[in-house]
Amino acid sequence: MTEMLRTKAELRARLAGWKRAGETVGVVPTMGALHAGHLSLVEAAKADCDRVIVTIFVNPKQFNSAADLENYPRTEHADAEKLAPYAVDVIYVPGPEQIYPEGFATSVAVSGLTEGLCGAFRPGHFDGVTTVVSKLFLQTGADRAYFGEKDYQQLQVVRRMARDLDIPVEVIGCETVREPDGLALSSRNVLLPEATRAAAPVLNRAMVAMAEGLRTGADLATLQAQAEAAILEGGFERVEYLELRAADGLAPMTTLDRPARLLAAAWLGGVRLIDNIPVG
Ligand code: AMP
Repeated sequence: MTEMLRTKAELRARLAGWKRAGETVGVVPTMGALHAGHLSLVEAAKADCDRVIVTIFVNPKQFNSAADLENYPRTEHADAEKLAPYAVDVIYVPGPEQIYPEGFATSVAVSGLTEGLCGAFRPGHFDGVTTVVSKLFLQTGADRAYFGEKDYQQLQVVRRMARDLDIPVEVIGCETVREPDGLALSSRNVLLPEATRAAAPVLNRAMVAMAEGLRTGADLATLQAQAEAAILEGGFERVEYLELRAADGLAPMTTLDRPARLLAAAWLGGVRLIDNIPVG
């Protein structure tokens, strides 16, 4: 199995040889509890890059509640087993002191893109993401980084951050991997109470119906109300948002005059699920 490196010193030593040899390095940042969605990113990285680093770090700064951080699944041994067939070069599992050493006082924040959608419901979340991801980009020196479209706002925010800070990394977005019933794979899906699992695909189904309605020219507000009602009738407790945004830049949209994305967050069985799909 691929060796796990736990310190940035070990990582740096490994990187030095690759860089000297002119090899390209790809990174796949994760919080572990790996599933087929993560593995699709690893596959894309392996296809593109000479060397691939998978990072596993459950980043306390991006959680909004102590309970969510505590309950987040941690499956390091199983993660290593799932990665074995891909023969990545390094699994980097930094301890918290490697990322946030004593006295750490810096925060990386992107404005604009982080203000609506998940940003409106998870204060500070994206600052936690951009702080850790900028550190992982700098620690790994990666040429390319692979992120899932599953977290579409995050993908846009990370891309903006890398450009704004002149971090020489190409941020690559990969399509969402789903269960056969349409539910987007997520590490949090294992937290869904068994009785609610059957209701989970209702979210994606309502979004697909709404996207079809938009394509045929139906009214956005009407479709939105119908989709929200279907999600709640399907068993969800609450819809946080269900919005049509520009695929590039996430500006709110009312008519389909450019490529768009439908994005949603909703609660089921005490678990917050997010999803997004392209429209037009
Ligand atoms: P996480 O471990 O949840 O922080 O996710 C790590 C990376 O995997 C992020 O770039 C996610 O967008 C991506 N990811 C998570 N779920 C999926 C999925 N179902 N399909 C594709 N990528 C995903």
